[in-house]
Amino acid sequence: MKILVVNCGSSSLKYQVLDMTDESLICKGLVERIGIEGSILTHSKIGADKFVLEVPMKDHKDAISHVIEAIQDKEHGVITDMSEIGAVGHRVAHGGEKFAESVLITDEVLAAIEDCVELAPLHNPANILGIKACMDLMPGTPEVAAFDTAFHQSMPAESYIYSIPYKYYEQYGLRRYGFHGTSHKYVAEVAADMLDKSIEDLKIITCHLGNGASIAAVKGGRSIDTSMGFTPLAGLAMGTRSGDIDPAIISYICKKEGITVDEMNSVLNKESGVYGMSGISSDMRDIKSAAAEGNERAQLTLDVYAHKIKAFIGAYIAEMNGVDAIVFTAGIGENDPLTRANVCRDMDALGIILDPEKNETREQSVISADDSKVKVLLIPTNEELMIARDTLAIASK
Ligand code: ADP
Repeated sequence: MKILVVNCGSSSLKYQVLDMTDESLICKGLVERIGIEGSILTHSKIGADKFVLEVPMKDHKDAISHVIEAIQDKEHGVITDMSEIGAVGHRVAHGGEKFAESVLITDEVLAAIEDCVELAPLHNPANILGIKACMDLMPGTPEVAAFDTAFHQSMPAESYIYSIPYKYYEQYGLRRYGFHGTSHKYVAEVAADMLDKSIEDLKIITCHLGNGASIAAVKGGRSIDTSMGFTPLAGLAMGTRSGDIDPAIISYICKKEGITVDEMNSVLNKESGVYGMSGISSDMRDIKSAAAEGNERAQLTLDVYAHKIKAFIGAYIAEMNGVDAIVFTAGIGENDPLTRANVCRDMDALGIILDPEKNETREQSVISADDSKVKVLLIPTNEELMIARDTLAIASK
């Protein structure tokens, strides 16, 4: 079966087609500037040149119809008829407490995703537009929703309840949800394969370090804690997001700077993290270059970034009463030996020893020293494959 995986943003849409007979990626693409002047679709058939289409696309339905044309195109396409697409998998940001796994999309499921819009006002509406567009244009093709939050629904209450009045949880669903669940689940499963052990017998800490970053404690294949919270603002320092800070800072800065709470929220989401600390860039590559040239604030940024990850690793080792493997994934986790080295430095007392030579890689591999009790692994994430696997399993039922 071939599966179309769709990831909709407010004005963009990423897609992939996977052939699930061997789980191979056969094409992928990106539509940008949906509903804005200059809409553009970039389509790549694996092993062929990119194909670029610039036509006005007024909404997500327009965009999906061009995707459908592109994947059937005589020259750049990968299928001859849409009936070859057995199912569509959608990445959905927030499933609240309603979804602990991927599900077949029905009218009730769609309504439940709509109920979660309040929890993810920027992301769920775009996801819903994508789902509805596919329903209209591909009637009869099963559609599956894979939620960023689902994997973390296994967390115990002690991990997800905030120490604020309990009524806010009851009234507003205010609790830790966690995100990047598809990625944490995928790399944890690959880690178990690499260690040739059953995931049920393993304690794994997964570090997803991209523009957004989160870390998860995966015990026996289930997420038991994660750093992102009610929103993806919590936890680690990120490209432009603050991660955890003293909550009293918010009212303090609002008063000092005469800004509103919404403006402060924007500061914490868009002007903080690596960008805010360094004053240089949100891109880790720029921070590394600046630090290498002697920029002290860039060096401080690298130090804070690693310090926060280390602190979570320590906490999760305590929560799980040990750890068998630590996984690094996503843009920084996969491509930056320096961050991995900074995080793992001076952790030999916890049985974590990185091998400096093995660490100089970008391939899926074990990067810890032979005498490291805890295995350190580099595993490129593949959220689309995970979504396609879930979609295949559900569509085949
Ligand atoms: P997103 O969360 O947007 O999916 P990615 O997982 O693609 O992000 O990660 C993007 C980040 O990866 C960039 O901000 C960049 O800092 C980082 N990155 C990519 N390549 C390198 C590298 N060679 N060294 C350090 N950081 C890198």
